[in-house]
Amino acid sequence: MAPHYDAVVVGAGFGGMGAGIELDRLGLRDFVILERESDLGGTWHVNRYPGLAVDIASVTYSYSFEPNPHWSRLFAPGAELKRYAEHVADKYDLRRRMRFDTVVEGARWDAEHHRWVVTIQGGEVLTARYLATATGFLSQPYTPPFPGIDTFAGKIIHTTAWDDGYDLTGRRAAVIGTGATAVQLVPEVARKAAELTVFQRTPIWVVPKIDVAIPPAVQKVFDRVPLTQKAARLVNTTMLEALMVIGVLHYREAKPLNRGAGVLAKVHLRAQVRDADTRRKLTPHYDFGCKRPTFSNTYFRTFNRPNVRLETNSIERIEPDGIVTADGHKTEIDTLILATGFNLWDVNFPAIEIIGRDGVNLGKFWRDNRFQAYEGITVPKFPNFLSLNSPYSYSGLSYFTTIEAQMKHMGRLFGEMFRRDAQVFEVTERANTEFLDRVTEKLGSSVFYEGQCSTAHSYYFNQHGEAALLRPTSTLNAHREAVSFPLEDYTYATA
Ligand code: NAP
Repeated sequence: MAPHYDAVVVGAGFGGMGAGIELDRLGLRDFVILERESDLGGTWHVNRYPGLAVDIASVTYSYSFEPNPHWSRLFAPGAELKRYAEHVADKYDLRRRMRFDTVVEGARWDAEHHRWVVTIQGGEVLTARYLATATGFLSQPYTPPFPGIDTFAGKIIHTTAWDDGYDLTGRRAAVIGTGATAVQLVPEVARKAAELTVFQRTPIWVVPKIDVAIPPAVQKVFDRVPLTQKAARLVNTTMLEALMVIGVLHYREAKPLNRGAGVLAKVHLRAQVRDADTRRKLTPHYDFGCKRPTFSNTYFRTFNRPNVRLETNSIERIEPDGIVTADGHKTEIDTLILATGFNLWDVNFPAIEIIGRDGVNLGKFWRDNRFQAYEGITVPKFPNFLSLNSPYSYSGLSYFTTIEAQMKHMGRLFGEMFRRDAQVFEVTERANTEFLDRVTEKLGSSVFYEGQCSTAHSYYFNQHGEAALLRPTSTLNAHREAVSFPLEDYTYATA
């Protein structure tokens, strides 16, 4: 029985689109991309809050094979990323393969027919030879279970569900959370609201953002002489790489560099915030890099404004008209903005139920054993399955380096499978274990294990205290391995 499709891809963000482009290149043209949202773009479709912009320079935060010479700024605003995603979908003929408002419930490997059986909410069932999940790392919004939140009589907005029609002018607003999202959003809210209280549990490291508009003349040069933009990308990527590899992964050997970044952030804070007590509260007490650091020239100085207050007492409950903190103080508000991030380790990894060979449930396997994936992409007992958002898959700081390494991995794997005239692949237990042992050992010298991260509340760590998100290697190395991993790390069979 032939499956409906060559492949089902779950997720129409940049990861899923990268997988689609690679499937096309491999000649597996009959695929469908299923997307729960109403449009493509993933993160850049869902997030529309004021102030949204990339925090990796746009020359690097884009596909290397599809440069965009028209970024308006060094760090492009979110809307430009969404337009770029649309451009890529059109240029690579992906849009007609996408189905929106389609919630995938689960997928099960049918060993008899060598295919994946994918169940969609509403009861529809699709089958495919290959399954690729590109459901994102930061795609399951998190709302903390604050007592009384259901009784709040005003407006509640999670940053992933921004209400474009809601006017903040004159409001008494609260922002809960001080992660990268809040750092971008808080200055924008402060500008409009009559009063803003920022509820902080853990301060974040913030360094200056060197952001400039890219003049039309430079855009023209990028357009006419693509090599110039390639050079800019190389310079930027090299800087990010140094930060990641030396400052984060080789923390044991390069503590001074990491400390230097912390000093820079403290000088930035000193220069921007007048009140000493506020500065003290905004100073992190964990090492730089334990949590994704962020860039901003406007976040700290927002706390100088007379209409902005930083609240560091923990939230006890929410009442219809305000937030009560542990000291008994009530902050009266009419607008509650939740910049409380995402749940990675409970409801993601995987985002849908995936049942492999012998009835093995991927989510249960990861939780009962350890989170793991060979080269951050395949898992034993899950034939013909590419898990694009895997533990230990994220390499470098720009997500595009991960996406393109995975596309290369797909190219080598499928190329070998086709050469053997096979249709079914599965990574071996041995190769997977060796990879897990290797990354575990390498992470030993990273800031996550050598640094002081216990008070960071970082989503890099899972429920077992393991920093199982980042692949502890340079992106150069990840890309090299993607095109040279031992072919015998997989078994190949005919369908
Ligand atoms: P986040 O970093 O997970 O931050 C969530 C915030 O909510 C934290 O400050 C957290 O405090 C707080 N929080 C959670 N539960 C709480 C509770 N019960 N009480 C009080 N506070 C609570 O999420 P995010 O800011 O959305 O950013 C997530 C990631 O998205 C970033 O690290 C970055 O990778 C990405 N991002 C990128 C961009 C960009 O590229 N432009 C922009 C925004 C986000 P604790 O720290 O104490 O847990």
